[in-house]
Amino acid sequence: MARLNGKVAVVTGGANGLGAAIAARLAEEGAAVAILDRDERGQDVAEKLTANGAKAIFRSVDVTSEDRVSSSLASVVEELGSITVLVNNAGIEGVNKPTDQLDLADWEKVMAVNSTAVFLCTKHVIPHMRAAGHGSIVNISSIYGILGGADIPPYHASKGAVRAMSKNDALTYAPENIRVNSVHPGFIFTDMVHRYASEAGLSEADARGALDPAHPLGGTGDPDDIAWGVVYLASDQAKWVTGSELVIDGGYTA
Ligand code: NAD
Repeated sequence: MARLNGKVAVVTGGANGLGAAIAARLAEEGAAVAILDRDERGQDVAEKLTANGAKAIFRSVDVTSEDRVSSSLASVVEELGSITVLVNNAGIEGVNKPTDQLDLADWEKVMAVNSTAVFLCTKHVIPHMRAAGHGSIVNISSIYGILGGADIPPYHASKGAVRAMSKNDALTYAPENIRVNSVHPGFIFTDMVHRYASEAGLSEADARGALDPAHPLGGTGDPDDIAWGVVYLASDQAKWVTGSELVIDGGYTA
């Protein structure tokens, strides 16, 4: 199927993990894809997609820099045409400490990538979507944008902010046919979750042993489980979907 023919999609954090899977599925469905990441492996991801027949480019961008976000989106439009899909996926986990032991700098670092960058990319993509006459913005939050959990306060706060921001933007831009939805993944063993487990002093086997039974459908997820949800929200099949929260978590939060 090619549900995204003619669309131009930007995926932040597309060099690795969920973002790389999202970029691959969007490309497979016919979108031209631009990967924005500070990790240069984004170039390899783009080259692989191109080798598979897709149109894909990479821009080396720290998404917390307003200047870089704005100039790179303009350069994507120049090369690929008007942007009609934005996936705000770049994220970091931050340090695992309770609030009373957390430094302000650690708080600000997580908020900058997980929340402020979503604001910046959305702010600077809206004029391009407005010019195109439509758009779909998919914000990758987390089950921890909905649930509580101990000891990673900025991660929870930043992902809750993304959920609320998505609803605000959904209402603001609905009259311009720009849809905004959030996606809430459960646990998927990407580099982020490996780092999180090792910071908690857990081997992968121990982390899987603890996490697998918490997912009623059995075990943690695959990056593609999230990518297919993003494809749907990006596609015209979701033309009546905005302000929604798509939870993809094997039943963790049910
Ligand atoms: P990951 O660490 O594997 O990949 C994150 C990507 O974001 C990397 O390529 C990294 O370079 C990029 N990135 C980070 N900071 C950046 C910055 N300032 N500028 C540009 N790029 C930056 O993590 P992942 O597991 O693939 O996570 C992707 C998203 O999914 C994140 O927002 C994360 O919070 C969310 N999420 C992940 C899980 C999970 O279990 N893996 C669960 C819920 C939500």
